[in-house]
Amino acid sequence: MRLSVIGCGYLGAVHAAAMASIGHEVVGVDVDERKVEALSRGEAPFFEPGLAEILREGVASGRLRFTTDMAEVRGSAVHFVGVGTPQKRDGYAADLTFVRAAFDGLRPYLSADDVVAGKSTVPVGTAAELAPSISETGAVLVWNPEFLREGWAVQDTVDPDRLVVGIPDGEAGERAAQVLREVFHPSVAKGTPFIVTDYATAELVKVSANAFLATKISFINAMAEIAEVTGADVTTLADAIGHDARIGRRFLGAGIGFGGGCLPKDIRAFAARAEELGQGQSVAFLREVDAINLRRRARAVELVVEALDGAVHGKRIAVLGAAFKPHSDDIRDSPALDVAVQLRGLGADVVVTDPEALDNARRVHPQLEYTDERDDALRDADAVVMVTEWDLYRRELSPEHAASLARGRVVVDGRNGLDAAAWKAAGWDYRGMGRR
Ligand code: NAD
Repeated sequence: MRLSVIGCGYLGAVHAAAMASIGHEVVGVDVDERKVEALSRGEAPFFEPGLAEILREGVASGRLRFTTDMAEVRGSAVHFVGVGTPQKRDGYAADLTFVRAAFDGLRPYLSADDVVAGKSTVPVGTAAELAPSISETGAVLVWNPEFLREGWAVQDTVDPDRLVVGIPDGEAGERAAQVLREVFHPSVAKGTPFIVTDYATAELVKVSANAFLATKISFINAMAEIAEVTGADVTTLADAIGHDARIGRRFLGAGIGFGGGCLPKDIRAFAARAEELGQGQSVAFLREVDAINLRRRARAVELVVEALDGAVHGKRIAVLGAAFKPHSDDIRDSPALDVAVQLRGLGADVVVTDPEALDNARRVHPQLEYTDERDDALRDADAVVMVTEWDLYRRELSPEHAASLARGRVVVDGRNGLDAAAWKAAGWDYRGMGRR
């Protein structure tokens, strides 16, 4: 099938390449010329495992191309819209400027029976508001939220755990759902749940899934706070409650919390939208989820300060990690960088390292010192702070090796990912989050 993908960022570039990899002919459109140039050369403009390979293959096969010219979407059966929906500058709500601009740009090139499939994460009610803007063209709007996880985006796109499509009432909507079944044929054929519903449910599935995940993380981080004042250990607690199949152990890792381009802004936008709907109280807890999350970053900083007896100024601190999570170079709302910036603000001599995210980090926080080499960051450090769970820090860094480089023996484990016993045995003053 001929498909177009409008917006080629973390979602769209992966979607375009993944759709080409399953045999479709895809044109990706973005307003960012540099991104389009890189993608057209088959180069991934950001780090995402497996993306470079399918991009190269797609471009070489001629099935995948990228352009800044919206007119080239003409003739595509489905137009996926995956532009950004960031938090508004002056509030918590989602900024829909890019979505509206994408629809405005797309409208002149739509034909009757085209399907426009919104993928961006939007406030409930957005699809119903946008549908009339394209109805005159005869195209049909569906909402097909995306659940990919950065770091596993290719796999999640090619083989998602469910597909959700919000359609308008009537035959045209049913037909559009059928078209999407054909687009996602390999997944549909293998029995992946394909849920056809109305616009509002489809939009809400996405934001409620993120709200649930954020709540689960903040729940265990709240338990970490209680553990800290009672001498309990949150990791043992998480293991124990996680054995209950109704609870489950995943997403119960206490630490410096969630970040990235989705969870933080999505829960804020959800709370803002609920308030607009006069139903703010239903998700008022999300404000607390957000507050707990941000407190844990401050707590990691506090642990460093305590371990250094309050004297952080001028101390050399190695910050291991800048990306909001491993297997990604995404630093949007990264807890890791937030911790680094806060320590720098206290006068520490901070050096940040990360295997993939340094270019992005440098651009946003030029005031920090960076090094590509983990061991250079560790050299002469008075304290070590692990804030992104790359294997390079979690599994491949022995406490003895770290001790051979660092000056001090303080390690703060912002992700509870290090082997605490091994670090203590090697003479380190180990401090985890919510752990004795
Ligand atoms: P992003 O900022 O990486 O990408 C957005 C892209 O859209 C950019 O390349 C930008 O240049 C482009 N763009 C903006 N306006 C445009 C226009 N008018 N025409 C064409 N292109 C335009 O953002 P992202 O992380 O890919 O997220 C996109 C959407 O997907 C958001 O709503 C996000 O919440 C949602 N989402 C993201 C993920 C994820 O893991 N990143 C997962 C699920 C859902």
